[in-house]
Amino acid sequence: MGIKMKNTARVLNGVDIAAEIKAEVAAEVRALAASGITPGLAVVLVGHVAASEIYVRSKVKTCAELGIRSEMLTPPESVTTSEMLALIADLNARDEVDGILIQLPLPAHVDTRRLLEAVTPEKDVDGFHPINAGRLQGGRPALEPCTPAGIMEVLRRSGLPVAGQHAVVLGRSDIVGKPAAMMLLNASATVTVCHSKTVDIGRYTRDADLLVAAIGKPGFVTADMVKPGATLIDVGINRVTDPAEVARFFPGDEARAAQFATRGSTLVGDIHPAAFELAGAYTPVPGGVGALTIAMLMQNTVKAAKARRGDRAHFAVGVSTGRA
Ligand code: NAP
Repeated sequence: MGIKMKNTARVLNGVDIAAEIKAEVAAEVRALAASGITPGLAVVLVGHVAASEIYVRSKVKTCAELGIRSEMLTPPESVTTSEMLALIADLNARDEVDGILIQLPLPAHVDTRRLLEAVTPEKDVDGFHPINAGRLQGGRPALEPCTPAGIMEVLRRSGLPVAGQHAVVLGRSDIVGKPAAMMLLNASATVTVCHSKTVDIGRYTRDADLLVAAIGKPGFVTADMVKPGATLIDVGINRVTDPAEVARFFPGDEARAAQFATRGSTLVGDIHPAAFELAGAYTPVPGGVGALTIAMLMQNTVKAAKARRGDRAHFAVGVSTGRA
Protein backbone atom coordinates (compact mmCIF):
# COMPACT_ATOMS: atom_id res chain seq x y z
CA MET A 1 0.00 0.00 0.00
CA GLY A 2 1.38 3.45 -0.93
CA ILE A 3 2.07 6.01 1.74
CA LYS A 4 -0.20 9.05 1.33
CA MET A 5 1.89 12.23 1.57
CA LYS A 6 0.60 14.86 3.96
CA ASN A 7 -0.11 18.12 2.19
CA THR A 8 2.00 20.75 3.93
CA ALA A 9 1.75 23.39 1.20
CA ARG A 10 0.75 26.86 2.33
CA VAL A 11 -2.60 28.00 0.94
CA LEU A 12 -2.52 31.61 -0.30
CA ASN A 13 -5.98 32.84 0.55
CA GLY A 14 -7.03 35.34 -2.12
CA VAL A 15 -10.29 36.18 -0.37
CA ASP A 16 -8.47 37.38 2.77
CA ILE A 17 -5.91 39.35 0.76
CA ALA A 18 -8.66 40.95 -1.33
CA ALA A 19 -10.50 41.94 1.87
CA GLU A 20 -7.31 43.57 3.16
CA ILE A 21 -6.88 45.56 -0.07
CA LYS A 22 -10.53 46.61 -0.12
CA ALA A 23 -10.28 47.87 3.48
CA GLU A 24 -7.25 49.96 2.48
CA VAL A 25 -9.10 51.33 -0.55
CA ALA A 26 -12.12 52.23 1.61
CA ALA A 27 -9.81 54.13 3.98
CA GLU A 28 -8.33 56.04 1.01
CA VAL A 29 -11.82 56.85 -0.23
CA ARG A 30 -12.69 58.28 3.19
CA ALA A 31 -9.51 60.39 3.15
CA LEU A 32 -10.40 61.71 -0.33
CA ALA A 33 -13.94 62.52 0.83
CA ALA A 34 -12.42 64.86 3.40
CA SER A 35 -10.95 66.78 0.44
CA GLY A 36 -14.32 66.78 -1.33
CA ILE A 37 -13.40 64.05 -3.83
CA THR A 38 -15.51 60.95 -4.50
CA PRO A 39 -13.82 58.59 -6.95
CA GLY A 40 -16.14 57.52 -9.77
CA LEU A 41 -16.17 54.43 -11.96
CA ALA A 42 -18.19 54.13 -15.20
CA VAL A 43 -18.88 50.58 -16.35
CA VAL A 44 -20.03 49.99 -19.91
CA LEU A 45 -21.94 46.76 -20.43
CA VAL A 46 -23.05 46.06 -23.99
CA GLY A 47 -25.97 43.69 -24.65
CA HIS A 48 -26.86 40.75 -22.43
CA VAL A 49 -23.95 38.35 -21.84
CA ALA A 50 -24.91 36.47 -18.66
CA ALA A 51 -21.36 36.13 -17.30
CA SER A 52 -20.61 39.81 -18.02
CA GLU A 53 -23.79 40.87 -16.22
CA ILE A 54 -22.68 38.92 -13.14
CA TYR A 55 -19.17 40.46 -13.20
CA VAL A 56 -20.52 43.98 -13.68
CA ARG A 57 -23.03 43.62 -10.87
CA SER A 58 -20.27 42.49 -8.58
CA LYS A 59 -18.06 45.46 -9.58
CA VAL A 60 -20.88 47.94 -8.99
CA LYS A 61 -21.71 46.34 -5.62
CA THR A 62 -18.07 46.50 -4.49
CA CYS A 63 -17.92 50.19 -5.48
CA ALA A 64 -20.90 50.86 -3.21
CA GLU A 65 -19.29 48.95 -0.34
CA LEU A 66 -16.11 51.03 -0.57
CA GLY A 67 -17.75 54.43 -1.10
CA ILE A 68 -16.82 54.71 -4.79
CA ARG A 69 -19.48 56.30 -7.01
CA SER A 70 -20.38 54.03 -9.91
CA GLU A 71 -22.58 54.28 -12.95
CA MET A 72 -23.54 51.66 -15.46
CA LEU A 73 -24.07 52.37 -19.14
CA THR A 74 -25.89 49.67 -21.04
CA PRO A 75 -25.87 50.18 -24.81
CA PRO A 76 -27.83 47.55 -26.78
CA GLU A 77 -26.17 44.61 -28.55
CA SER A 78 -26.70 46.49 -31.85
CA VAL A 79 -24.49 49.44 -30.82
CA THR A 80 -21.98 50.49 -33.49
CA THR A 81 -18.27 51.25 -33.08
CA SER A 82 -18.87 54.94 -33.77
CA GLU A 83 -21.68 55.12 -31.19
CA MET A 84 -19.36 53.49 -28.66
CA LEU A 85 -16.58 55.93 -29.56
CA ALA A 86 -18.95 58.83 -28.87
CA LEU A 87 -19.95 57.32 -25.53
CA ILE A 88 -16.28 56.86 -24.54
CA ALA A 89 -15.44 60.43 -25.61
CA ASP A 90 -18.20 61.66 -23.32
CA LEU A 91 -16.86 59.62 -20.38
CA ASN A 92 -13.32 60.81 -21.10
CA ALA A 93 -14.53 64.41 -20.88
CA ARG A 94 -16.61 64.11 -17.71
CA ASP A 95 -14.69 65.30 -14.68
CA GLU A 96 -16.51 63.15 -12.12
CA VAL A 97 -15.58 59.95 -13.97
CA ASP A 98 -12.15 58.69 -12.84
CA GLY A 99 -12.24 55.18 -14.26
CA ILE A 100 -13.79 53.73 -17.42
CA LEU A 101 -14.29 50.02 -17.73
CA ILE A 102 -15.58 48.43 -20.90
CA GLN A 103 -16.77 44.97 -20.01
CA LEU A 104 -15.45 42.36 -22.45
CA PRO A 105 -16.27 40.54 -24.62
CA LEU A 106 -17.99 43.01 -26.94
CA PRO A 107 -20.17 41.90 -29.87
CA ALA A 108 -18.10 40.72 -32.86
CA HIS A 109 -19.19 43.63 -35.09
CA VAL A 110 -17.63 46.17 -32.70
CA ASP A 111 -13.92 47.08 -33.02
CA THR A 112 -12.81 46.19 -29.48
CA ARG A 113 -9.17 47.22 -29.90
CA ARG A 114 -10.13 50.64 -31.23
CA LEU A 115 -12.49 51.22 -28.32
CA LEU A 116 -9.96 50.19 -25.69
CA GLU A 117 -7.45 52.59 -27.25
CA ALA A 118 -10.06 55.38 -27.20
CA VAL A 119 -10.26 55.33 -23.39
CA THR A 120 -7.98 58.06 -22.10
CA PRO A 121 -4.96 56.40 -20.40
CA GLU A 122 -5.64 58.43 -17.23
CA LYS A 123 -9.00 56.66 -16.79
CA ASP A 124 -7.92 53.26 -18.12
CA VAL A 125 -8.55 51.32 -14.89
CA ASP A 126 -8.26 47.97 -16.71
CA GLY A 127 -4.70 48.89 -17.71
CA PHE A 128 -5.28 47.75 -21.32
CA HIS A 129 -4.30 50.98 -23.12
CA PRO A 130 -0.97 50.80 -25.02
CA ILE A 131 0.28 53.85 -23.08
CA ASN A 132 -0.20 52.01 -19.79
CA ALA A 133 1.27 48.80 -21.27
CA GLY A 134 4.28 50.82 -22.43
CA ARG A 135 4.68 52.44 -19.03
CA LEU A 136 4.56 49.03 -17.38
CA GLN A 137 7.20 47.76 -19.78
CA GLY A 138 9.38 50.75 -18.96
CA GLY A 139 9.01 50.07 -15.23
CA ARG A 140 7.23 53.42 -14.81
CA PRO A 141 4.14 54.00 -12.68
CA ALA A 142 1.06 52.94 -14.65
CA LEU A 143 -2.50 51.79 -14.28
CA GLU A 144 -1.78 48.07 -14.44
CA PRO A 145 -4.04 45.20 -15.54
CA CYS A 146 -5.96 44.01 -12.49
CA THR A 147 -5.42 40.23 -12.53
CA PRO A 148 -1.61 40.25 -12.82
CA ALA A 149 -1.45 43.18 -10.37
CA GLY A 150 -3.45 40.94 -8.00
CA ILE A 151 -0.89 38.16 -8.43
CA MET A 152 1.90 40.53 -7.42
CA GLU A 153 -0.09 41.59 -4.35
CA VAL A 154 -0.55 37.96 -3.33
CA LEU A 155 3.20 37.38 -3.58
CA ARG A 156 4.13 40.60 -1.82
CA ARG A 157 1.62 40.36 1.02
CA SER A 158 2.49 36.69 1.58
CA GLY A 159 6.19 37.54 1.86
CA LEU A 160 7.13 35.21 -0.98
CA PRO A 161 10.40 35.95 -2.78
CA VAL A 162 10.36 37.12 -6.40
CA ALA A 163 13.76 38.73 -7.02
CA GLY A 164 16.24 36.16 -8.31
CA GLN A 165 13.57 33.46 -8.65
CA HIS A 166 12.95 31.62 -11.89
CA ALA A 167 9.36 32.59 -12.72
CA VAL A 168 7.66 30.62 -15.47
CA VAL A 169 4.46 32.10 -16.90
CA LEU A 170 2.15 29.86 -18.91
CA GLY A 171 0.10 32.00 -21.32
CA ARG A 172 0.89 35.21 -23.18
CA SER A 173 -2.45 37.03 -23.35
CA ASP A 174 -2.43 40.84 -23.19
CA ILE A 175 -4.71 40.64 -20.15
CA VAL A 176 -2.81 38.17 -17.96
CA GLY A 177 0.29 36.38 -19.27
CA LYS A 178 2.28 39.23 -20.85
CA PRO A 179 1.68 41.83 -18.12
CA ALA A 180 2.32 39.20 -15.42
CA ALA A 181 5.65 38.37 -17.07
CA MET A 182 6.53 42.06 -17.25
CA MET A 183 5.64 42.69 -13.60
CA LEU A 184 7.71 39.69 -12.49
CA LEU A 185 10.62 40.92 -14.61
CA ASN A 186 10.29 44.40 -13.11
CA ALA A 187 10.42 42.71 -9.69
CA SER A 188 13.74 41.11 -10.75
CA ALA A 189 12.62 37.54 -11.36
CA THR A 190 14.20 35.64 -14.24
CA VAL A 191 11.19 35.08 -16.46
CA THR A 192 10.30 32.38 -18.98
CA VAL A 193 7.04 32.69 -20.91
CA CYS A 194 5.45 29.55 -22.41
CA HIS A 195 2.53 29.42 -24.84
CA SER A 196 0.76 27.05 -27.20
CA LYS A 197 3.77 26.73 -29.50
CA THR A 198 6.26 26.00 -26.69
CA VAL A 199 7.82 22.57 -27.12
CA ASP A 200 7.98 20.43 -23.97
CA ILE A 201 6.50 22.86 -21.44
CA GLY A 202 7.39 20.51 -18.54
CA ARG A 203 11.07 21.18 -19.21
CA TYR A 204 10.48 24.80 -18.13
CA THR A 205 7.87 24.30 -15.42
CA ARG A 206 10.01 21.72 -13.61
CA ASP A 207 12.65 24.42 -13.16
CA ALA A 208 10.19 27.07 -11.94
CA ASP A 209 10.56 28.45 -8.42
CA LEU A 210 7.41 30.41 -9.18
CA LEU A 211 4.85 29.15 -11.67
CA VAL A 212 1.99 31.28 -12.98
CA ALA A 213 -0.53 29.28 -15.02
CA ALA A 214 -2.92 31.33 -17.19
CA ILE A 215 -3.92 29.24 -20.20
CA GLY A 216 -7.53 28.21 -19.58
CA LYS A 217 -6.94 24.41 -19.71
CA PRO A 218 -8.31 22.50 -16.68
CA GLY A 219 -5.61 20.70 -14.71
CA PHE A 220 -3.01 21.19 -17.47
CA VAL A 221 -0.05 21.37 -15.07
CA THR A 222 0.31 17.94 -13.49
CA ALA A 223 2.31 16.94 -10.42
CA ASP A 224 5.22 15.64 -12.53
CA MET A 225 5.58 19.13 -14.07
CA VAL A 226 6.30 21.06 -10.88
CA LYS A 227 9.38 21.54 -8.76
CA PRO A 228 8.75 20.44 -5.15
CA GLY A 229 8.47 23.48 -2.89
CA ALA A 230 7.63 25.88 -5.74
CA THR A 231 5.08 28.68 -5.47
CA LEU A 232 2.13 27.86 -7.73
CA ILE A 233 -0.16 30.69 -8.85
CA ASP A 234 -3.21 29.34 -10.63
CA VAL A 235 -5.05 31.96 -12.69
CA GLY A 236 -7.18 29.49 -14.65
CA ILE A 237 -10.91 29.42 -14.04
CA ASN A 238 -12.41 26.43 -15.83
CA ARG A 239 -15.92 25.15 -15.25
CA VAL A 240 -16.00 21.35 -15.27
CA THR A 241 -19.36 19.64 -15.82
CA ASP A 242 -18.31 16.04 -16.52
CA PRO A 243 -18.59 13.88 -13.35
CA ALA A 244 -15.73 11.65 -14.55
CA GLU A 245 -13.46 14.69 -14.78
CA VAL A 246 -14.51 15.87 -11.33
CA ALA A 247 -13.62 12.43 -9.94
CA ARG A 248 -10.26 12.56 -11.76
CA PHE A 249 -9.37 16.01 -10.38
CA PHE A 250 -10.72 15.55 -6.87
CA PRO A 251 -10.61 11.84 -5.95
CA GLY A 252 -12.06 11.29 -2.48
CA ASP A 253 -12.93 14.99 -2.03
CA GLU A 254 -16.41 14.77 -0.55
CA ALA A 255 -16.92 18.53 -0.32
CA ARG A 256 -16.32 18.92 -4.06
CA ALA A 257 -18.52 15.94 -4.86
CA ALA A 258 -21.34 17.46 -2.80
CA GLN A 259 -20.87 20.86 -4.47
CA PHE A 260 -20.93 19.22 -7.88
CA ALA A 261 -24.07 17.26 -7.00
CA THR A 262 -25.84 20.51 -6.04
CA ARG A 263 -24.63 22.78 -8.82
CA GLY A 264 -23.85 20.42 -11.69
CA SER A 265 -20.41 21.97 -12.12
CA THR A 266 -17.28 22.89 -10.25
CA LEU A 267 -14.29 25.14 -10.91
CA VAL A 268 -10.84 23.79 -11.67
CA GLY A 269 -7.72 25.84 -12.32
CA ASP A 270 -5.00 25.27 -14.90
CA ILE A 271 -2.99 23.37 -12.29
CA HIS A 272 -4.06 19.85 -11.34
CA PRO A 273 -5.02 19.80 -7.65
CA ALA A 274 -2.58 16.90 -7.07
CA ALA A 275 0.29 19.23 -8.03
CA PHE A 276 -0.62 21.59 -5.18
CA GLU A 277 0.45 18.90 -2.71
CA LEU A 278 4.06 19.33 -3.83
CA ALA A 279 4.01 23.13 -3.67
CA GLY A 280 5.59 25.34 -1.03
CA ALA A 281 2.60 27.67 -1.45
CA TYR A 282 -0.31 27.86 -3.88
CA THR A 283 -3.43 29.79 -4.76
CA PRO A 284 -6.55 27.58 -4.72
CA VAL A 285 -9.35 27.69 -7.30
CA PRO A 286 -11.74 29.16 -6.38
CA GLY A 287 -10.60 31.53 -3.63
CA GLY A 288 -7.19 32.43 -5.00
CA VAL A 289 -6.24 34.89 -7.73
CA GLY A 290 -9.85 35.23 -8.92
CA ALA A 291 -10.79 37.02 -5.70
CA LEU A 292 -8.19 39.75 -6.29
CA THR A 293 -9.27 41.18 -9.64
CA ILE A 294 -12.14 43.36 -8.40
CA ALA A 295 -10.11 44.57 -5.41
CA MET A 296 -7.37 45.70 -7.81
CA LEU A 297 -9.96 47.43 -10.02
CA MET A 298 -11.11 49.40 -6.98
CA GLN A 299 -7.51 50.24 -6.14
CA ASN A 300 -6.91 51.41 -9.72
CA THR A 301 -10.02 53.62 -9.61
CA VAL A 302 -8.77 55.39 -6.51
CA LYS A 303 -5.24 55.66 -7.96
CA ALA A 304 -6.71 57.21 -11.11
CA ALA A 305 -8.83 59.64 -9.06
CA LYS A 306 -5.82 60.72 -7.03
CA ALA A 307 -3.57 61.12 -10.04
CA ARG A 308 -6.08 63.03 -12.14
CA ARG A 309 -7.87 65.17 -9.60
CA GLY A 310 -5.62 65.43 -6.62
CA ASP A 311 -2.82 67.64 -5.67
CA ARG A 312 -0.01 65.27 -6.62
CA ALA A 313 2.26 66.11 -3.72
CA HIS A 314 -0.59 66.05 -1.19
CA PHE A 315 -1.88 62.66 -2.31
CA ALA A 316 1.54 61.05 -2.93
CA VAL A 317 0.37 59.93 -6.33
CA GLY A 318 1.74 56.75 -7.91
CA VAL A 319 0.30 57.12 -11.38
CA SER A 320 1.43 59.38 -14.16
CA THR A 321 -1.25 61.63 -15.59
CA GLY A 322 0.00 61.13 -19.12
CA ARG A 323 0.61 64.86 -19.46
CA ALA A 324 4.05 66.25 -20.03
P1 NAP B 1 -6.44 33.63 -23.44
O1 NAP B 1 -6.51 35.04 -23.88
O2 NAP B 1 -7.29 32.58 -24.06
O3 NAP B 1 -4.91 33.17 -23.56
C1 NAP B 1 -4.52 31.86 -23.30
C2 NAP B 1 -3.03 31.74 -23.41
O4 NAP B 1 -2.70 30.41 -23.10
C3 NAP B 1 -2.49 32.02 -24.82
O5 NAP B 1 -1.30 32.76 -24.73
C4 NAP B 1 -2.25 30.63 -25.39
O6 NAP B 1 -1.13 30.54 -26.26
C5 NAP B 1 -1.92 29.85 -24.13
N1 NAP B 1 -2.25 28.43 -24.28
C6 NAP B 1 -3.44 27.91 -24.67
N2 NAP B 1 -3.36 26.57 -24.71
C7 NAP B 1 -2.10 26.25 -24.34
C8 NAP B 1 -1.42 25.02 -24.19
N3 NAP B 1 -2.01 23.84 -24.41
N4 NAP B 1 -0.13 25.06 -23.81
C9 NAP B 1 0.48 26.24 -23.57
N5 NAP B 1 -0.11 27.44 -23.69
C10 NAP B 1 -1.40 27.44 -24.08
O7 NAP B 1 -6.73 33.50 -21.87
P2 NAP B 1 -6.57 34.57 -20.67
O8 NAP B 1 -7.58 35.63 -20.80
O9 NAP B 1 -5.13 34.93 -20.48
O10 NAP B 1 -7.04 33.64 -19.45
C11 NAP B 1 -6.34 32.47 -19.08
C12 NAP B 1 -7.09 31.79 -17.94
O11 NAP B 1 -7.15 32.69 -16.83
C13 NAP B 1 -8.54 31.44 -18.25
O12 NAP B 1 -8.87 30.25 -17.55
C14 NAP B 1 -9.33 32.59 -17.66
O13 NAP B 1 -10.63 32.21 -17.28
C15 NAP B 1 -8.50 32.92 -16.46
N6 NAP B 1 -8.63 34.33 -16.05
C16 NAP B 1 -8.87 34.57 -14.74
C17 NAP B 1 -9.01 35.88 -14.30
C18 NAP B 1 -9.26 36.13 -12.85
O14 NAP B 1 -8.90 35.36 -12.03
N7 NAP B 1 -9.91 37.19 -12.47
C19 NAP B 1 -8.87 36.94 -15.18
C20 NAP B 1 -8.57 36.68 -16.52
C21 NAP B 1 -8.44 35.35 -16.94
P3 NAP B 1 -1.06 31.27 -27.71
O15 NAP B 1 -0.79 32.71 -27.39
O16 NAP B 1 0.07 30.61 -28.37
O17 NAP B 1 -2.40 31.04 -28.33
